[in-house]
Amino acid sequence: MGKTENLIATGRKYIYTFEDGDGKNKMLLGGKGANLCEMTQIGLNVPPGFTVTTEACLTYLEANRLPDGLMGDIRRHMAALEKKTGKGFGSAANPLLVSVRSGSAMSMPGMMDTILNLGLNEASLQGLIKQTGNPRFAYDAYRRFIQLFGKIALGIADEHFDERMAAMKRRTDARLDVDLAAAHLEELAGQFLDIVKHRAGGPFPQDPYEQLEISVGAVFRSWMGKRAVDYRRQFKITPDMANGTAVNVCTMVFGNMGNDSGTGVGFTRNPGTGENTIYGEYLVNAQGEDVVAGIRTPRPIAEMEREMPGAYRQLTELHNRLESHYREVQDFEFTVEKGRLYCLQTRNGKMNGRAMVRSSVEMFREGIISKERALLRIQPVMLEQLLVPQLSPEFLGKPLAQGLPASPGAASGKIVFDASLAEARGLSGERVILVREETKPDDIHGFFHAQGILTSRGGKTSHAAVVARGMGKPCVSGCEQIVINDKAHNAVIGETTLHEGDVITIDGSTGYVYAGEVPTVEAKFSAEMATLLGWADEVARLKVMANADTPADAIRAREFGAVGIGLVRTERMFNSTDRLPIVQEMILAETQEERQAALDRLLPIQRADFKAIFKAMQGLPVTVRLLDPPMHEFLPTAAQLELEIAHLHQLRDTIKALDDLPDTLKLLNPRLYQQYADGLNKLTGALQTFKNTHLEENVISRKEKVLRKVRALAEVNPMLGHRGVRLGISYPEIYSMQIQAILEAAALCAREGIRIYPEIMVPQVGTVEELKRIHGHVERIHKVVELTHGIDVQYKFGSMLEVVRACVRAGRMAEIAEFFSFGTNDLTQATFSFSREDAENKFLPAYNATGILQDNPFEVLDIKGVGRLMKMAVDDGRKTRPDLKLGICGEHGGDPRSIHFCHQIGIDYVSCSGPRVPIARLAAAQAKLQEAEYRDPV
Ligand code: PEP
Ligand code: MG
Repeated sequence: MGKTENLIATGRKYIYTFEDGDGKNKMLLGGKGANLCEMTQIGLNVPPGFTVTTEACLTYLEANRLPDGLMGDIRRHMAALEKKTGKGFGSAANPLLVSVRSGSAMSMPGMMDTILNLGLNEASLQGLIKQTGNPRFAYDAYRRFIQLFGKIALGIADEHFDERMAAMKRRTDARLDVDLAAAHLEELAGQFLDIVKHRAGGPFPQDPYEQLEISVGAVFRSWMGKRAVDYRRQFKITPDMANGTAVNVCTMVFGNMGNDSGTGVGFTRNPGTGENTIYGEYLVNAQGEDVVAGIRTPRPIAEMEREMPGAYRQLTELHNRLESHYREVQDFEFTVEKGRLYCLQTRNGKMNGRAMVRSSVEMFREGIISKERALLRIQPVMLEQLLVPQLSPEFLGKPLAQGLPASPGAASGKIVFDASLAEARGLSGERVILVREETKPDDIHGFFHAQGILTSRGGKTSHAAVVARGMGKPCVSGCEQIVINDKAHNAVIGETTLHEGDVITIDGSTGYVYAGEVPTVEAKFSAEMATLLGWADEVARLKVMANADTPADAIRAREFGAVGIGLVRTERMFNSTDRLPIVQEMILAETQEERQAALDRLLPIQRADFKAIFKAMQGLPVTVRLLDPPMHEFLPTAAQLELEIAHLHQLRDTIKALDDLPDTLKLLNPRLYQQYADGLNKLTGALQTFKNTHLEENVISRKEKVLRKVRALAEVNPMLGHRGVRLGISYPEIYSMQIQAILEAAALCAREGIRIYPEIMVPQVGTVEELKRIHGHVERIHKVVELTHGIDVQYKFGSMLEVVRACVRAGRMAEIAEFFSFGTNDLTQATFSFSREDAENKFLPAYNATGILQDNPFEVLDIKGVGRLMKMAVDDGRKTRPDLKLGICGEHGGDPRSIHFCHQIGIDYVSCSGPRVPIARLAAAQAKLQEAEYRDPV
């Protein structure tokens, strides 16, 4: 058929055959459609068909009807398909059946709708029986079609059909669907037609074009279905990534034509480990969705070699061609129809982090991809999964049951049998494991809030397994020993009955299920991960440092590959139990002498801390920030103190009352008094001794003093209050103690021959004058340390840039500061005037949900606002001091998108929490590799 003809009919080209669609244009044809075109064009065995574009979908959604002329185009393409296959749509002699499948530019597994066996009606059913000589197969196809069409196109719930299916199986003693005979399926098809008639208010459409028209509309509508919309929101799929779904109309091939037929799904590499073997599952004599839906538990592909050797050879060939063409691990679906293997779909395989890393390293070594591709194909956040917890190796407990190891990692939690309950409990902070017979896309909200998923049916490519792997959550699937009873809210495994709320542990790496909570250990770096991150470091321009506050954190950060510490928050050291009383003493001091005495006790402690951190990071820079938070954060709250004081007053009154007890009793009941006089006298004596100690008075007056101080320190806006450098200006002795501790620790290290690069950083700076004053202290103390320790400590002095004014004055700041570190947590707060403490629990979720803001600016750097301030500060600072060192140490330092921006504006390093360091290293490499394509958001 001519392309012009197609254009004239609709005024726009809405349909492409698999032979003429552009395999690269996923936005227009959807991922599935584009791949069907590409596979057809590279000569793979794909059943013929065509794709209706996403543009048609958008037009449909806007006008709520199919675009003008589209049905005419579809009819012409169906006629061409009839010609190609030699079959007739609706034909009673040799019927053509098609599948109608959704598919958008981004893979959204199971989120939208698909209809199979379309074109079956009373006439073509007879044709199919004649054509195949297999009435069982034909009735099976028919009843499946009626159910799918009823559900998707007419909105009739599955349960109405499932009930009849279950009743039929009971009546005929059939264990599985395949045990039903042709006559049973014929009867069932009749019952299904009745359900449709009864529930849809009209007979099941017999005209195949009417079926097709209704189905295309239904698939288009599924783009806006709840689960698709939820999925896009959760995975942040924006319209510029995928806009509308295409509809793929594809000739049906049948895997349920007997034992020389089958259907399956496969990955070109193991998606759980990355190992280079065909991985997947298949079922003999089964159709379409059976494997994914988990209705029967399928067999591993390895068994296919023995069971269907001819088909297995074709499968191996398909595997090789897919990988060598796409240069990416493929996730494909195939059907074997009477010994001939067809590829129905392929897409880039969704694998977990471990598998992505291993396959990246191995595909590079096998010459399939370049080093750049190896780095670029992994989303940095996926590396987090490599750090998934594993069961403690010391644990030798006996499992309750074993299912399939569907998604690695171990998790414990309370059992819930329902996705909505999993969501509710998860949101309230409980750790839950979602336990289901099988999961469906409607359960997706439960996945988000569960620690792990356990199913009693379905394979490693079932819905539960695929979704859990994508999310990096542990999953055990197909655990058939477990009998789940949703209604009674329990699950039975042999002798054991588990109830909702009981704690279990699942290990998605082995498939074992354990009763109770099992201790877990954190994962270690794999050799492939180390290799990949080594490549990343070679490519990246940005260095990756860590935020670490203790020597233990520093050691861990180094293991994660941090090349320095970009932020030591010294206040975290103040908060530990042995130091807090001294810090409180310092705060409560009435005179400078008293304060100095407390500081003198803190000095050796801080010095020892810094020395240990410098040692752990030997050879690398360590940026120590002087005290930042307001003083009252180290004291109890006023409310707590008031309560304690009130209790103490009560105690005092009680003691007084007890004092009067003997006299009162003597008056009221002299005989009783006489009886207990001895004991009472003893009590009065003891109370007297207690009173003489004035213990409660002392405690009360101490607490009252603290309360007075707490009230005096109280501020309406503490985050904008007396904190950071402002404290250092008001109490220079505090900063002096810290500066001395840093420089002395450095001198002591230097004396031991440990190479160290200390940097002193001042928080909350807003004016040049503030920085100058603190710099004065540093220079003075440096001289003293030189005199007392005989070592001229090399150090850098710098400022945090977290106050808007500091960014504006960066040019002048750089006259004194040798480095800047952007504190983007506070800078975001200051730029938006959003409280970083409260915004995320109050209005921000609604801002994100309604599109006022695309992201949470405390998570993803606001490039348009905060980013502009940063860029200005970088440029102005470097004008003054060309070798100014620049970094970022707010949470954004570990966020891949923010890292791309930091790379673009020429920052030297990012600093983030230890476990995010590997993510940042990969993101830094990607930022370099993609710098030419980078665009600021508009
Ligand atoms: C910042 O504000 O970004 C920062 C790193 O400091 P803190 O989070 O300690 O205020
Ligand atoms: Mg800050």
